[in-house]
Amino acid sequence: MDAFRALPATARTTLGRHRERAVTDQSALHAVLDEALVCHLGVIVDGCPVVLPTGYGREGDILYLHGSAANRSLAAAVQGEVCVTVTLLDGLVCARSVFHNSMNYRSAVIFGRPRLVTGEAERLAALRVISEHLIPGCWEYARQPSRKALAATAVLALALDEASVKVRAGGPSDEEEDHALATWAGVLPVGMAIGRAEPDPLLPPGVPLPPHVAALQARWSGGGGVPEPGGPASRLER
Ligand SMILES: Cc1cc2nc3c(=O)[nH]c(=O)nc-3n(C[C@H](O)[C@H](O)[C@H](O)COP(=O)(O)OP(=O)(O)OC[C@H]3O[C@@H](n4cnc5c(N)ncnc54)[C@H](O)[C@@H]3O)c2cc1C
Repeated sequence: MDAFRALPATARTTLGRHRERAVTDQSALHAVLDEALVCHLGVIVDGCPVVLPTGYGREGDILYLHGSAANRSLAAAVQGEVCVTVTLLDGLVCARSVFHNSMNYRSAVIFGRPRLVTGEAERLAALRVISEHLIPGCWEYARQPSRKALAATAVLALALDEASVKVRAGGPSDEEEDHALATWAGVLPVGMAIGRAEPDPLLPPGVPLPPHVAALQARWSGGGGVPEPGGPASRLER
């Protein structure tokens, strides 16, 4: 476990509501980014806000994003400020009153001005980070990107200099007078699951499932991604 390092707080990363749900340790930000697979990139394109889901990877205090060199969001992103969000949904909170229904989550919001990565070495390293974030072990196993593929790919680096983490954990926040109601209340844990691998029908005969894919399947299968009560979300809350 890293030593406590506070996330740099700015006016726009300071929580307004439910400030007690803020987690200010940099390692909590890293944990959310490392566990989730998808981020949402919010950017102004031609004067209009656009928020698109995309993959990413983290190396130290840098978030890497990539996409087609023709990607309009990525092109706009390097012209100004962006907001990237990452969400882990941990549970559906069923309350005694519909008003108090809620969700348990760990989420991160990152602001900044990304830079276009132009150096070949950093571009390759970043693509490796993004690929390995999704499928650990794939970079060494699969064919490396061709020069043509590299030329068609834009890579952005966003420093994790201005970010917030918010966590909700636990049961419903019902009003005390409702506790006597015969209405079920509690939490349905939610997590990510990966199903059984489906081999591509175009595979030549006899190609085995590689160990890194089997490991990924085993890690997340059978509801293995569903958090236990007192799981990661509650551990993050301080
Ligand atoms: C899965 C999920 C479902 C949610 N559903 C609802 C809902 O239905 N209704 C609702 O009102 N809210 C919901 N929230 C909470 C929501 O994200 C906001 O935190 C909340 O609405 C407060 O909004 P605000 O504009 O007052 O933000 P403020 O607290 O004023 O935001 C100020 C700053 O705090 C930080 N911040 C705020 N929210 C988050 C966050 N979630 N994660 C990390 N940093 C954050 C950001 O840096 C932001 O710029 C949900 C969150 C998640 C993750």
